[in-house]
Amino acid sequence: MNNNNVSSEHHAPPEAMPWHQTALTDLLTHRDRLPHALLLTGPAGTGLSQFGQALAGALLCETPQTAGSPGCGRCAACGWMAAGSHPDFRALNRMVDDDGKESAEIKVEQFRTLGDFFTVGAHRAGRRIVIIDPADALNTVTANALLKTLEEPGEGLLFILISHRIDALPPTIRSRCQLYRLDGPDLDAACAWIQGATGCSAQDAQTWLAMAGGAPLPAAHLAEPARAAAHRAMLETLAKLPDTATVEVADALQSFEPRLWLPLLQRWVMDLGRVKQGAAPRYFPQWSGRLQELAGRSDTDRLVKAGRVLAGQFRLVGHPLNPRLFCEESLGALANAFTPIATLERGR
Ligand SMILES: [Zn+2]
Repeated sequence: MNNNNVSSEHHAPPEAMPWHQTALTDLLTHRDRLPHALLLTGPAGTGLSQFGQALAGALLCETPQTAGSPGCGRCAACGWMAAGSHPDFRALNRMVDDDGKESAEIKVEQFRTLGDFFTVGAHRAGRRIVIIDPADALNTVTANALLKTLEEPGEGLLFILISHRIDALPPTIRSRCQLYRLDGPDLDAACAWIQGATGCSAQDAQTWLAMAGGAPLPAAHLAEPARAAAHRAMLETLAKLPDTATVEVADALQSFEPRLWLPLLQRWVMDLGRVKQGAAPRYFPQWSGRLQELAGRSDTDRLVKAGRVLAGQFRLVGHPLNPRLFCEESLGALANAFTPIATLERGR
């Protein structure tokens, strides 16, 4: 077998985020002493998945320049990784349906599709790697199936489990893995990266980063030029509640998908709650004045209730039976925090 199909074509190997480069090099330098199961953890939205992909790509590369270097981008293995077809690599993720909605769990049937991957030796005489991302989406049955494999790992098998909430993993799984913690970037590094990735200004990068709760990847998603204007418009629309009627706000939101505006609405309510308690807003610091004014017209109980209703709506966000009604109900949850239901009923 030709083990070294070096092509002249360059396939960019999967890359870790800039703030994770040192950690990646560090792990790769110890590539011969890696355990058979790694559990990567760190703050959400900081690039854990990218790190896992970059690590797998580098470990499977057949002509790495040094022990600590990423994939060469030129060997057959790097080509297969770029095409998603490396025979010694598998990834278990949430399933995505035709509407783009992700499944809540990684089901045991998915795990079973790996079939003889665990028992048949490596195709390329190197490692075999399975990424499970996010590992906290494994349901109990799948976790038990995985546990059996973790207890008797095959030769050269490496599991890379990825989760930003490792307390949601069964202790039996955690105890079989070596924990590897990855830090997120500091504020300056995060903002610089968002600016570079989206071309937005430094001030906007800070705004989007706050809106995403400090997580740089979702912030870059918000800041992408094609989406940024829509996100601003949605927020301006939501901020009009309750001074503009719910139906009018619902009209203005019709052109946006619920999965885009509902998280903004939820964070808006969370910030109202924080301001009500005398804390600074976390997500929308530039809207501090409006949040202060609104918080003065509500109370903590009603804001907590609004948050609870919106959390319930979040479970339906991918497939509301009646999108218009869903929108009005969600907006109504916030509007009700300012106008007691009793007053409304008395007025009827
Ligand atoms: Zn390579």
